[in-house]
Amino acid sequence: MEIPSASSPAPESVSLEAKSPFEMRTNLGEAVPDIDVRAALKTGELGFLHSFTTGSAVDGPGIRLVAWTTACMFRCQYCHNPDTWTLRNGIPVPLHAAIDEVRKYANGLRAMNGGFTLSGGEPLMQDRFAARLFAAVKGMGVHTAIETNGYYSERLSDDELSTIDLVILDMKAIGREQHRRVTGLHNDEVIAFCRRLAEIGRPMWLRYVLVPGLTDIPEEMGAMAEFAASLGIVERAEILPFHQMGRYKWHRLGIDYALEATQSPSNEAVSSAVAIFRAAGLAAV
Ligand code: SF4
Repeated sequence: MEIPSASSPAPESVSLEAKSPFEMRTNLGEAVPDIDVRAALKTGELGFLHSFTTGSAVDGPGIRLVAWTTACMFRCQYCHNPDTWTLRNGIPVPLHAAIDEVRKYANGLRAMNGGFTLSGGEPLMQDRFAARLFAAVKGMGVHTAIETNGYYSERLSDDELSTIDLVILDMKAIGREQHRRVTGLHNDEVIAFCRRLAEIGRPMWLRYVLVPGLTDIPEEMGAMAEFAASLGIVERAEILPFHQMGRYKWHRLGIDYALEATQSPSNEAVSSAVAIFRAAGLAAV
């Protein structure tokens, strides 16, 4: 998709579609004036997106169309896409253009029992855009999912949450201090969001990134698994092995990268982590 230049300040030559979020993108929204950014965040009429990816099989059930937002409040040591931390690194996309993009694929997504996933960055940094986009996509009869770190979840009302069929929660840690160590912020809101989802009976998938020397802590994983199982809504727990595909972005952005020498976990370490989540009664993979 080429961004319609008549209704968007995006560079005409930039395509919204990318092979994956590992494509480096910066400064694509730098021409948007501050006043328009503030209006965009308030109304959701305009969103900032790193890209769309078609045909994903790993971002929710079935084959997915994924939109990757820019801006994030966390600074995860293992972040694969630090170019998505900054709102204006994304392409400014009018809400109607984002809706049209999903509509293009709606028939196929329904036919393949797939759907639309909004990921990031952190999608709820642009909560009005996210809420309005989900409402429109839900209106097309397409399955909807959000991949979120949960920190700004209170920005969505229960009605807005009801337009999201699945919450994929990236849980960074269960311990408050460990969460701060991994992300720079505490996790009070994340825990509260889990409890809220349980109260209103919304399905959730949990994702946990296994990083040798940082998150491969059996007690931490055990406590997280027990907590997740106690919610009664977690349909699936995914252990994601850390990898270095995003390292070049840290280098090119000039950000200190604490995991420079960290290796991917061994197959045995991944199996051990999966076993911890399964022992709590979760469907872990
Ligand atoms: S929440 Fe996601 S996008 Fe934000 S810093 Fe962490 S890994 Fe990166």
